[in-house]
Amino acid sequence: MSTFQSFTYQALPMRVVFGAGAVKSLAQEIERLGYERALVLCSPEQESTGRMIADALGERSAGVLAEARMHVPREVADLARDRARELGADCCVAVGGGSAVGLGKAVALEHGLPVVAVPTTYAGSEMTPIWGLTEDGRKRTGRDPRVLPVSVLYDPELTLTLPAALSVTSGINAMAHAVEALYAPDASPVISLMAEEGVRALTTALPALVRDGGDLDARGQAQYGAWLCGACLGATTMSLHHKLCHSLGGTLDLPHAPTHTVVLPHALAYNQPGAAQAVTALSRALGGSLDPAHRFWELAGDLGAPRSLRELGMAKTDIPRVVEEVLANPYANPVEVTEGGLTRLLNAAWAGEPPNS
Ligand code: NAD
Repeated sequence: MSTFQSFTYQALPMRVVFGAGAVKSLAQEIERLGYERALVLCSPEQESTGRMIADALGERSAGVLAEARMHVPREVADLARDRARELGADCCVAVGGGSAVGLGKAVALEHGLPVVAVPTTYAGSEMTPIWGLTEDGRKRTGRDPRVLPVSVLYDPELTLTLPAALSVTSGINAMAHAVEALYAPDASPVISLMAEEGVRALTTALPALVRDGGDLDARGQAQYGAWLCGACLGATTMSLHHKLCHSLGGTLDLPHAPTHTVVLPHALAYNQPGAAQAVTALSRALGGSLDPAHRFWELAGDLGAPRSLRELGMAKTDIPRVVEEVLANPYANPVEVTEGGLTRLLNAAWAGEPPNS
């Protein structure tokens, strides 16, 4: 029997500029794209980076709006639109992690202003057409090609300030995209290559970063991995792991990247029996480990990352609520998701036990 499955692959129209110092070419990039002036978007904590980017843009900067927040409140997207209009901006530059990039995407979706992304974490949002917007306490999400950044500048120098703990959880968050892309219902050979390489790059880079956060080669390697993993998320449909994290984040307000970090080994262990090709690819990426789920769990421990939902603030009594919510919305998954299986998974993840491989 042939092991070569049929597939559909649609490339996303994105330009990526990569390298230490890449941000110096931002003004030319804006010019090349045909825009005049950019409004720089960032979170309040990243304001100094935003101002540095605005300085690098020179006369192509319209100003800085340091108002990006988690979950993209609609009023912030509207404020960005108003500020862009007042300042005569014809595009936005989103500098930061998933929150800043998310704001840029919301402005692109709602108000048609194109966005250039300058990522400073490893979350991967800049490579996806997935948007989110929170209004009246409810977060809506969707996919729309209009929110894709027209260009992404990856400059590892901008990630030198990312603390070790954030680097690790953000990097594992990225690898979760690659893991689920390997067994996605719309997986394809080219995305699987990117996923394997993304995991290899990040699992090599993260230990080096924890030893020395100023290691620019390791920072570049991590960002290269994050790019690949983000592209995997943009090209495929996610399964149990992402649904579970979405539910934990939405109902219990658990922190995004640490939740991905805790859940990944457990969700992968659950799916491994139905995902032989993914296990083979991940084993290669992880240096020959025959149980990738367990290897991810060990890696999190080695890197000092959280391994239990308990330490993220979840109460054990919340487990049935999350199980119920996850079961209420069926989706493609390589292994059937059952109440018993999910409860066992969450019990182990809550307690910080090794995954049930
Ligand atoms: P984030 O953008 O909220 O950043 C986390 C923290 O790190 C912030 O306080 C930020 O100021 C700080 N930070 C960022 N870069 C830094 C740097 N270089 N040095 C020091 N501090 C820095 O979080 P995130 O983990 O990047 O992204 C998570 C968010 O992105 C979630 O809301 C998630 O839903 C979203 N996301 C969306 C997609 C998508 O495809 N739409 C993909 C992944 C994540």
